[in-house]
Amino acid sequence: MKYQSTRDSRVSVSAAQTIAQGICSNGGLFVPEDFPRISEAELSGLVKMDYRARAALIMRKYLTDFTSEEIAECTSRAYDSRKFSGGVPAPVSVLKSGISFLELWHGPTCAFKDMALQILPHFLTRSLKKIRADKDALILVATSGDTGKAALEGFRDVEGTKILVFYPQDGVSAMQERQMRTQEGSNVSVVAVQGNFDDAQTGVKRIFTDEDVQKQLAANGMMFSSANSINWGRLLPQIVYYFSAYCDLVTSGTIPLGQEIDFCVPTGNFGDILAGYYAKKMGLPVHRLICASNANNVLTEFLTTGVYDRNRKFYTTISPSMDILVSSNLERLLYDVTDRDDAKISGWMKQLSETGRYEVDSATLAKIKEVFAAGFCDDSETKEEIKRVYEADHYLCDPHTAVAARVAREYREKNGSSVPIVVVSTASPYKFAPDVLSAVSPESDAAGDVFRAVEMLSERTGTEVPKSIAALRTKPLRFSEVCSKDGMRDAVLRIAGKRS
Ligand SMILES: *Cc1c(COP(=O)(O)O)cnc(C)c1O
Repeated sequence: MKYQSTRDSRVSVSAAQTIAQGICSNGGLFVPEDFPRISEAELSGLVKMDYRARAALIMRKYLTDFTSEEIAECTSRAYDSRKFSGGVPAPVSVLKSGISFLELWHGPTCAFKDMALQILPHFLTRSLKKIRADKDALILVATSGDTGKAALEGFRDVEGTKILVFYPQDGVSAMQERQMRTQEGSNVSVVAVQGNFDDAQTGVKRIFTDEDVQKQLAANGMMFSSANSINWGRLLPQIVYYFSAYCDLVTSGTIPLGQEIDFCVPTGNFGDILAGYYAKKMGLPVHRLICASNANNVLTEFLTTGVYDRNRKFYTTISPSMDILVSSNLERLLYDVTDRDDAKISGWMKQLSETGRYEVDSATLAKIKEVFAAGFCDDSETKEEIKRVYEADHYLCDPHTAVAARVAREYREKNGSSVPIVVVSTASPYKFAPDVLSAVSPESDAAGDVFRAVEMLSERTGTEVPKSIAALRTKPLRFSEVCSKDGMRDAVLRIAGKRS
């Protein structure tokens, strides 16, 4: 299997090269040249497997320059049951109201980013060996909160790598910030940027393609790599849990094999939901993918009107991992629905970077609408939904998941849909305890103390606090550097120059 660039379909590189490089040098994103089909017989085989085996089977189809043994080793290390609370990486909870939740937050950092970032370091270090890059990788990450922590945890003390995470100074939750600033490991650094997530992401993209920085890195025996959701090595593992959720629903007797289902996905950078689209292309019986956004509803508008316009007010919400105005992975969807029209994609992306806006043609929009629906809600509606789900089903969801739960419910009501639906649940409610607590129990007052809120939420709901969150309380803060948008480059050069 070879990989192309969304901005030049003549590019043809191996999976190892794709993963090692992260982003194409022309600014495009790597995509596989085709999407292997999973037959119904294979799907029925997957039903009988555990998560690790499902992951290995699906990923083998794309990582053709890896041996089966290598892939099996990566999956069994990444999805070791000891790393996931309850022992299962991606369990599905079927509520009595008929909606199911695919819980992707049982990993070490309590958010769905673990599903990809526990395995990416294994893929990446092997990829670097395969392409004979005798350089260490400097992993640059811009995070809206959850990626940073999950990447730090995935890469900590991984030989041949250093990792530097930039997060928006006022754009992450108190818990997310604490998780990052207490990170352990000899190869990790964390810096706050004065700006929002888009500023951090734009800064990282710019530094990535800065030839002068690349030269200085090479002189120190290093090269850049990315753990952001634009890396194919992040996207691929996410395809797996769509298949896995489907198989689990078959096993539990919720659906018969072959029945089409909907997924509703809380969306930011469009990585998670794009993996669902790829699963559908591979033959998973998916009816609709419903894209759920918060008040930063640029995707709702795009998926309904075909106009992408980032020139709008930026809202800081209680679902910060979705506070994004430029959803990078959308470029991959556009490439696919235009039948790989690289010139068209390059044009739209140029308009986006120059004017902040582009509009797709009606044929493209129609193709998108065959598969995607979209909706959004604001913070007060999100809190209402947390309360509603808790009261109806005694099920606690975090704000990101609640956005999707609400959009899913409204979608079903509006369309009179009886298609079984899975809401993708992306974070533990304890990661956002103050907001979840005030939603289920407005009279509770944690007096601005996140750990008090964690305690009260557990007392109030009788649910268990994840171990990694309970442990944060007493961990020392290791990082406190803040830089301006223009200071990011210097921060990178400083890390690159440091001997580990
Ligand atoms: C990252 C994240 C999202 C958004 O996922 P994308 O792949 O960026 O669309 C949603 N919820 C949570 C909790 C996240 O961490």
